[in-house]
Amino acid sequence: MAEEAKNYLLPLIPLRGLTVFPYMVIHFDVGRQKSIEALENAMINDQMIFLVTQKDAETEEPTVEDFYKVGTISKVKQILKLPGDVIRVLVEGISRGRILEIKKEDPYFEALVEERLDPDEKARDIETEALIRGVTESFENYITMSNRIPPDILVSVLSVEEPGRLADIITAHLVLKVEQKQRILEAFDIKERLEILYKILLEELEILEVERKIASRVKKQIDKMQKEYYLREQLKAIQKELGEKDSFQQEIEEYERKIEEANLPEEVYKKAKEELDRLSKMPPGSAESTVSRTYLDWIISLPWNIETEDRIDIKEAQRVLDEDHYGLTKVKERILEYLAVRKLTNSMKGPILCLVGPPGVGKTSLGRSIARAMNRKFVRMSLGGLKDEAEIRGHRRTYIGAIPGRIISSIKTAGSKNPVFLLDEIDKIGTDFRGDPASALLEVLDAEQNHSFVDHYLELPFDLSKVLFITTANTTDTIPRPLLDRMEVIYISGYTEEEKIHIAEKYLIPKQMKEHGLAEKNIVFTREAVKEVINSYTRESGVRNLEREIANVLRKVAKIIVEKGRKRVIIKKKDIETYLGIPKYRTDYAENKHQVGVATGLAWTPVGGDILSIEVAHMPGTGKLVLTGKLGDVMKESAQAGLSYIRARSEQWNIKEDFYKNTDIHIHVPEGAIPKDGPSAGITMTTAMISALTNIPVSKDVAMTGEITLRGRVLPVGGIKEKVLAGYRAGIKTIILPKDNEKDLEEVPNSVKKALKFILVENMDEVLNVSLIKEREQGNGN
Ligand code: ADP
Repeated sequence: MAEEAKNYLLPLIPLRGLTVFPYMVIHFDVGRQKSIEALENAMINDQMIFLVTQKDAETEEPTVEDFYKVGTISKVKQILKLPGDVIRVLVEGISRGRILEIKKEDPYFEALVEERLDPDEKARDIETEALIRGVTESFENYITMSNRIPPDILVSVLSVEEPGRLADIITAHLVLKVEQKQRILEAFDIKERLEILYKILLEELEILEVERKIASRVKKQIDKMQKEYYLREQLKAIQKELGEKDSFQQEIEEYERKIEEANLPEEVYKKAKEELDRLSKMPPGSAESTVSRTYLDWIISLPWNIETEDRIDIKEAQRVLDEDHYGLTKVKERILEYLAVRKLTNSMKGPILCLVGPPGVGKTSLGRSIARAMNRKFVRMSLGGLKDEAEIRGHRRTYIGAIPGRIISSIKTAGSKNPVFLLDEIDKIGTDFRGDPASALLEVLDAEQNHSFVDHYLELPFDLSKVLFITTANTTDTIPRPLLDRMEVIYISGYTEEEKIHIAEKYLIPKQMKEHGLAEKNIVFTREAVKEVINSYTRESGVRNLEREIANVLRKVAKIIVEKGRKRVIIKKKDIETYLGIPKYRTDYAENKHQVGVATGLAWTPVGGDILSIEVAHMPGTGKLVLTGKLGDVMKESAQAGLSYIRARSEQWNIKEDFYKNTDIHIHVPEGAIPKDGPSAGITMTTAMISALTNIPVSKDVAMTGEITLRGRVLPVGGIKEKVLAGYRAGIKTIILPKDNEKDLEEVPNSVKKALKFILVENMDEVLNVSLIKEREQGNGN
């Protein structure tokens, strides 16, 4: 039971950030006037004073509201005047007290305080006992874990008998917030006090545990780093002791040596040194060091100053060109002239050679021969489908995985700064959002600029002026104009059958035999067999497929020789089918019958000439003109023109005048050849239409090409040589050509001219005279 409470009238001091407990001896400094007055008043009387805690330590002049109502009745033990009107006070807490009333606020606070003594509990109940144990145990842990309280405190604390006092002493030793301490101070009930303290202690322990974990984690990290650092230093020391360098240092020195030995131009040398310096300061395994190494590797490996010695001996060049290629007399002549000029001017300036012709006519291999003739290195780069400028000029080094463009890469492959550089398929470069490769190419080819070509990746000028650029194309039509202007075009047209036979016998078969490990004595490839391969298994202007088929035959023969142990195999015409399977093309196109509504045209395509079978059907309808097959707009217009011509001439051909109102006409151009979109099928379509409408068949032996006007005039067209060769290949006997194309026949080889009959026409009537089969017994039209 609590004793009867006593009340006292006491001077009051609000404390900042400090809570005084009973039994606690503590000192604090007093500086505020009000507090000094209170202290003086206490000293005059019985040295008793009431100490409360300010709710907020910052408040300078607290009012009654600003401090807690429960505090400690204390006794002043000592006061000491310090310089600057500060008094240091030593007090001892006596007992808890609660303010009943503030009697005055000036010149100091005076309060009527009710004393709250702890009940005198000798016989503790079990709960209290348990709480005491819990609290002391936790406090013990707290001391071990916090490291903030000297352990001997524990001894004095454990010797305290009264539970209330125990709680107060422990609280006084803890580092707690003002509010927490206040809560314990205000707990007049012992059990409640112990309980609050216990809870606080457990919370504190938990926080300490977490703190400890974090600390140990951090420590581990630091330990690991220190250990590695230590080991590395040791390794260095050991290597030094053994006279070895660490591998990174070795690598740097290796680069240093390579740079010195690479014979680099001044500017490049400087840049390489700078880069090496940067590299040596990077962590060896880092991503940026890899970028830096790749860059150095590129710089070192490029042939900045490596040049092969030219041989410009026209006789020798002629010999090499002849050795590698059959025929092509005009082309070879042009190449030799070109080389001669190079020799005289001793420079690579001047137009770039552009070899134009269908695939497989030897453009690429001519380039290779030129390199061989001049004793230069050879590199080839295909421009087909190139759309991205960066492919030519490279990506900037800031891009991940950037490398130089294909020009510089090819130069590296060549290993000299003056190779023969073949740019294949220059007619197939494109343009899109990624920039214009043609303009980048222009810079490469332009003699005025290419002595310092700057690749985006290298960021260093490379001298391309010694390079001999040669380009190839199937057609000049799609070569960007500015590029074409800088080039000297040499046309190479397709080969005739005779030429192909020669090429096969003299070049392709020996070459392929060598590649298949066959000796001359093993094989006899008869001429008839070669012809069979040419006519029944290939239909092309060049000899690329021919070479492939020959290789096929020889592969099969090689197998026979190995399997059956034969010494010698004679390849005859009849054997070809067993080697190559059933023929892919009809040898004799002219074996067909004369047909109604089908006319044979001649077409030029970038891959050579071809024949074109145009079919026309007509049926009752409403006068529609339907066109199917691979047709371009120009071809469609041409068909329309032909139709108008027929309407104007319907009477002459005995065609019903109003046929265009009640007849649908369907023109079909079967695939096979994909002709260039042009008007040159005009007369062929018109012939087929008239044949269909009049039911007069078209001669199977006739093929034709020519543009038609509304009034039936026949205008000249292009690609005559390729077209004639295609007709010849297909077994056509008579070829109808526009009169104005007569001059183009000069280019056609004599052997071909002899085999064909040419009809030169000026108007459509002449065409029909030749192409339609005159015996009109089949009918007289509708
Ligand atoms: P292109 O570059 O014109 O498409 P290639 O140069 O690839 O043609 O030639 C295809 C093959 O035909 C090569 O093996 C080449 O040697 C051969 N060839 C082409 N024309 C001739 C020729 N006139 N004489 C000898 N071989 C030739």
